[in-house]
Formats: sequence, structure tokens, C-alpha cells
Amino acid sequence: MAGSRLSSDYWITEYMTEDDVHLHGVERILDFKRTEYQEMSIVRSKTFGAGLVLDGKWQVSERDEFLYHEPLVHTALYQHGAPSRVLVLGGADGGAVREVLKWKSVTKAVQVEIDKVVYDACQEHLGNIHQGCFQNPRAEIRFGDAFEVLEKEGGSWDVIVCDLSDPLEDSPAMNLFTREFFTTCREALAPGGVFVIQAGPVTPPFDDGHARIVRTLGTVFENVTHFFSCTPTYVVPLGFALGSLKPLDTDPEPAKVDAFLAENVDGELRFFDGIALRGLMSPPKYLRDKVAKGETLSTLDDPARYTGTGVKS
Ligand code: SAM
Repeated sequence: MAGSRLSSDYWITEYMTEDDVHLHGVERILDFKRTEYQEMSIVRSKTFGAGLVLDGKWQVSERDEFLYHEPLVHTALYQHGAPSRVLVLGGADGGAVREVLKWKSVTKAVQVEIDKVVYDACQEHLGNIHQGCFQNPRAEIRFGDAFEVLEKEGGSWDVIVCDLSDPLEDSPAMNLFTREFFTTCREALAPGGVFVIQAGPVTPPFDDGHARIVRTLGTVFENVTHFFSCTPTYVVPLGFALGSLKPLDTDPEPAKVDAFLAENVDGELRFFDGIALRGLMSPPKYLRDKVAKGETLSTLDDPARYTGTGVKS
């Protein structure tokens, strides 16, 4: 059959559910380690370039990561309006900090990543993603468990960006999609602060977790919205959940947003502008209904969890 000639010999098998599998072909394995926290592969795929896989789940790849990092970061920093101190949780590949530093008002971008082995491997192999952003004097990388660091140190952050891996069974992110964690983050925000988190797939039958995470955020923040973008590496559209200590601009005027961004952001934005933001702020009916009609929350006693795999040592 035309077009069915496969050219890869290695495949990363990502389990969306036990009965739904996605394969990305791989032409080279750049690094593989079982760290204290997870199984890490850094691979090169013909389709998506170099990418990071943790516990069998694609985290990021060169060719389409902007479709994830720009909506994650710029929606939150725009909603804040004048972010100075930004905290990124997770984010080993550096794409989130790279985007945060484009904001002229940002004086400090601190990243707390639990796995130094993964961070070091990303520094070595994913230069097209981090683009040396941690050499910027405004950037700082720290290693530790985001929940523990926040519980111990709190803080007074203008924006907290959670660029975390999925809450898989016994993954280090397992407890970071819960009401308790969101509350700890809220307490670490300065007045007018904004919190954003990647919040899983948004299309049926995978969207229960997203709805649950958004609902849970709504019990911690009075101003909440959710949105999504389509990043082919992840196969399904990935959602984001955003909570704010001040009212949100959920009906942005594109021309005004563009003028504001021209004033406050240095560097190219390939995804994010006023028209894109207006689209992001308009989640479809089925998704809004799913959030509004459900009851389940995500708590430490009963956290939202995702299907995943990976050879755990
Ligand atoms: N774009 C990806 C996604 O949407 O799933 C996230 C990418 S980023 C590489 C995820 C990072 O979160 C990983 O490097 C992982 O080590 C980190 N992480 C997971 N749990 C953590 C925790 N408790 N504290 C700090 N970092 C954590």
C-alpha cells in the first residue's frame, strides 16, 4: 500500500490508555537513563527533531514545542500584566524559562526542577529548546521537589508556571495536580498573582482529568479559566488551567493585546498574539460543560492520574 513503508526501526510507544497506543518513530537515541525519579530518554525523531520522553510520555520536542510553551507562559504573564518575579516548576528542557525571559518586566525567573539528571541531559542535547536561557543573569535553576520547596519557602511570586510531567502512578508529579498543591501555590503568590499548569488532554475520552483539574483549581482561586493548544508530539490537544488573584481578561481585544505585547515583550512569538489569545479564551462548549457539570476534585486522598508506562527499575 503506497505510503506504508516505515523507515524507523525504533519506536517510542506512548500509551494513551491500556488500549490506545501512539508510536513516534525514532532515528537515534541520544541519551537513556533511569534516574532516581523516572526513566528518561532523549531521542531524535525524523518528524519532530530531538525530544525528551519521561516514563514513556513525550514531554517536549524541538519542532513543535512552541505550540506548548507559548500558550503556557504568555497567557499567564499577559493576564498578570507586569510580572517581575516568575517561578517555573518542572520544565527541565528550559522552554518555559526561555519564554518567560522575553518579558521586559521580568527581573527574576527561578526554576525548581526535581531531576538534575534530566536537566543536565536537556542542557546537553536540547540546545534548540533552552537556547542557553539559564546563562541569562535573570534566570536561576534550583533542584528539589516543587511541593516541598514551596511548603518550606513559600514566596511572593507574580506568576507560578507549572511545566510538570503528568501525574502518573508513582511519578514525581503525582501530588502536584491537587487542591492541596494549588493552595500551597496560591499562598506563595504576591497580590494579583497568577498560577498556570499544564492540565492534560482535552478531548474525549481523555478529558476527565482536565475537567477535574480545572474544577479543583476553581476551589482555590476565584478567577479561573482553561484553554488548550494542539502540539502533535502529544497526539491529543493539551489543556492548561489558570487561576488568578485578580479578574481575568477573558474577552481580549486583539489590537490592544498586540500593542501591549509590542511594548512589553522582546523576541519573536510564533503562536501567541491578540487573535490567538482570543481563541485560547474561548474553550468549546463540551469542555466548559464537562468542567461545570462534574463534581470530582483532585486531592491528595484521591489525585487525578494519567495512564502511562515506562520501565520502572
Ligand atoms: N511539557 C511537558 C508536559 O506537558 O507534560 C512537561 C515537560 S517538563 C520536562 C516536566 C518536568 O517536571 C520533568 O523534568 C520532571 O522531572 C519535572 N517534575 C516532575 N515532578 C516534579 C516535582 N515534584 N518537582 C519538580 N519538578 C518535577
